[in-house]
Amino acid sequence: MEFDLINQYFAPLGLAKSAEQAALEGSDIGIGDDGAVLTIPPDQQLVVVTDTLVSGVHFPEDTAAYDIAWKALAVNLSDLAAMAATPFAYSLGLSLPKICATDAQWMADFARGFADLVSSTGLPIALVGGDTTRSDVLTLTVSAKGLVRHGQALLRSGAQSGDLIVVSGVLGEGALGLQLALQRLNPSQMAVLNLQQKQFALNCLNRPQPQLRLGMVLSGLASSAIDISDGLLQDLGHLVNSSSRKQRLLNPQAKDLGARIQLEQLPLSAGMQKLFAESEHWPWPLSGGDDYQLCFTLPADALGPLQDLAASVNTRVTVIGEITDSAEITVFHKNKRVSIDRHGFQHF
Ligand code: ADP
Ligand code: MG
Repeated sequence: MEFDLINQYFAPLGLAKSAEQAALEGSDIGIGDDGAVLTIPPDQQLVVVTDTLVSGVHFPEDTAAYDIAWKALAVNLSDLAAMAATPFAYSLGLSLPKICATDAQWMADFARGFADLVSSTGLPIALVGGDTTRSDVLTLTVSAKGLVRHGQALLRSGAQSGDLIVVSGVLGEGALGLQLALQRLNPSQMAVLNLQQKQFALNCLNRPQPQLRLGMVLSGLASSAIDISDGLLQDLGHLVNSSSRKQRLLNPQAKDLGARIQLEQLPLSAGMQKLFAESEHWPWPLSGGDDYQLCFTLPADALGPLQDLAASVNTRVTVIGEITDSAEITVFHKNKRVSIDRHGFQHF
């Protein structure tokens, strides 16, 4: 049963050659042996990321098989994007309820979710192995592998006081999509959004598009980067703290870094703008999870080149604030400080 699933649904997502053909030719080995054997070009470093998605925790239980697969790989590719790495392989630890494993349509949709995301990236990204077990709760652990030129990975720890803070795309859509999926919007909120705006938010939730092209062009330009998975404020906090720790390694007297965010500069979809038009309390764009946009920093004089590079990869980028040496993250609306009471997705 397990081997039928692997042969029927997973092997076609793998390297073109079977393990035996690869053995014959001395080329890389994917699915079909005890482990994958992959070649790392001599001038490159391997970047490895892992993310687990649990049904009912990371996606609603009634999420479509296609979307579950898409998202499980997309969140991993988003981590690689933040590191400026080019993905080339992934593995899949799959704990599957019997009702899914025995449902041919479910399995086919699930495999298609991976295939379609890979083809949307335009990159050859092969499933090279994994493990399949039975479980009452659908759980997926994807580990994606990427390559980056030696020393060129983008890290969280490079931000400096005075750097601009930039984000890609629009913020808060994943959180809005989740409220829609769980039918938690009140009638007046529902009335504000048209069908297209609702569809956009649901799509951001279920089929996030990792910012791979942007990540790659940021290498050498950005001073630091992180992908926003648990909310802008929380993830920016990780970036600021990591950068502070690095500064202190260089100079034990260095001041702790902070950040100042300008609320009115946050990039929002048309639907989100309507929802928050009258408010200074923006929980979803500031603290909502599931955005999978990049948040990165760069020196102010790199803004011109950034705009050219972002245009070359067709990606919206927006300056939302700057890194400070104030040891705290503050949010301003025009010149007034806004108090923030929520701090992103908490796992425990
Ligand atoms: P082993 O018992 O040696 O761990 P398995 O029997 O679990 O190997 O797996 C057989 C082959 O199928 C291996 O190459 C493994 O990487 C691959 N495989 C198993 N499950 C998956 C999966 N969910 N996705 C992709 N490849 C898988
Ligand atoms: Mg084995």
